[in-house]
Amino acid sequence: MADQQFDIVVLGGGSAGYAAAIRATQLGFSAAVIEKDKLGGTCLHRGCVPTKALLHAAEIADVAREGEHYGINTSLDGIDVARVNAFRENLVAGKFKGLQGLLKANKITVIAGEGKLTSPTTVQVGGDTITGKHIVLATGSYSRTLPGLEIGGRVITSEHALELQEVPQRVAILGGGVIGVEFASVWRSFGAEVTIIEGLPHLVPNEEESVSKQLERAFRKRGIDFKLGVRFKSVSQDANGVTVSLEDGATVSADYLLVAVGRGPVTQGLGFEEVGIEMDRGFVLANERLATNVPGVYAIGDIVPGLQLAHRGYQQGIFVAEEIAGLNPVVVEDVNIPKVTYCDPEIASVGLTEAKAREKFGAENVTSYEYNLAGNAKSSILGTAGTVKAVRVNDGPVVGVHMIGARMSELVGEAQLIVNWEAHPEDVAPLVHGHPTQNETIGETMLKLAGKPLHAI
Ligand SMILES: Cc1cc2nc3c(=O)[nH]c(=O)nc-3n(C[C@H](O)[C@H](O)[C@H](O)COP(=O)(O)OP(=O)(O)OC[C@H]3O[C@@H](n4cnc5c(N)ncnc54)[C@H](O)[C@@H]3O)c2cc1C
Repeated sequence: MADQQFDIVVLGGGSAGYAAAIRATQLGFSAAVIEKDKLGGTCLHRGCVPTKALLHAAEIADVAREGEHYGINTSLDGIDVARVNAFRENLVAGKFKGLQGLLKANKITVIAGEGKLTSPTTVQVGGDTITGKHIVLATGSYSRTLPGLEIGGRVITSEHALELQEVPQRVAILGGGVIGVEFASVWRSFGAEVTIIEGLPHLVPNEEESVSKQLERAFRKRGIDFKLGVRFKSVSQDANGVTVSLEDGATVSADYLLVAVGRGPVTQGLGFEEVGIEMDRGFVLANERLATNVPGVYAIGDIVPGLQLAHRGYQQGIFVAEEIAGLNPVVVEDVNIPKVTYCDPEIASVGLTEAKAREKFGAENVTSYEYNLAGNAKSSILGTAGTVKAVRVNDGPVVGVHMIGARMSELVGEAQLIVNWEAHPEDVAPLVHGHPTQNETIGETMLKLAGKPLHAI
């Protein structure tokens, strides 16, 4: 490799970085992606894809257990962890191969190595200087821990959790956010005793409160234990397990402690500050058009404060390439990006919670309706409980949709169109949803808000 020049140089080949490069070359720019590990980043190798593979395996375990309920003679004989891991690894390997081909087909130059920003237009990779008219920073995130809580041995992060060669008998999880509840769900389905420790009063505390409460009910029913509103104090470990001490004096003993307390930005030592980029606690500050304070340097994905989601990364990657091309792309605020938690039951939401909508528009100007999945034939066939809640401004648009129940992730596409297109319930109500589908739950919610409920009172 030698010194090279491009229109756009992207530092980091995760969801955000490679999306930026693909859109850049579509727009006629030359683009390079510098990646120190594997293209696809956290999402493909350590995040979204492998965890969802595990969640699917977990669902199959539950289906096998529950076959009898449907008159099918199945039983769960056990979990072959080596084969579950092989399924996950093969899946990731296939997607990785596909992604490499995709970048090649888009004529993107992939430069292997650790890059360091050395000026607003240059990145150093080993002895080579890579120059870009524009630089896009996309170095992603890592699993954080708490001060004094050292990762190692039986105190693990999600990366280690994915690699476990056994189903733990008992596992403690610190953090009841997305990653914590997803692993809790998997391990419980695989037969482990699970205890979640969450400092805030609810699991998935960023969701609509009624959704959090329903998840807590569902987890209780599944035998997943959780301690809410209590803070972690310390942990000790030996060859056999961990003992977690909480500030209220309680202790939790387990084989492992999974630390799932959020993700920090990967920015340390990469030259960003030296080049004069404004930062906040390690995150790169970018304006709503994703430009940093240094002209020509942009930031996207998990290093930019806000939702840390792969599809936000894709959107920001596409956005930044179009912005550089002068296409004036539309800003999508974080609140209008769909969020999905893939535990059982699934949670999917977009837009404002009812409390936030009331704050923003005034309580008297907001109406909500919560449709119970019990009224939906397909949900009853699947044997799932839950709700679809929509929040509207009176005589105005739907500003939030919040769902819990099996397979709700598949409904969030329609929900995000409704919210982002600022549709009124009256716009959606005349449109037809196939029967019997879970999609009908959104149709029914809109019908009710439009004043003409069908399967609701
Ligand atoms: C367990 C888990 C489950 C998740 N599940 C979901 C989910 O279901 N849905 C969802 O939307 N999101 C999910 N996420 C979040 C999602 O993975 C991230 O939001 C997404 O990967 C962020 O993309 P990114 O491109 O900003 O960063 P990353 O994917 O972290 O990519 C950054 C890349 O930059 C590279 N890099 C860093 N520094 C350098 C350097 N100096 N030189 C060269 N290369 C460098 C890294 O090697 C990495 O490949 C999950 C995350 C985890 C941990």
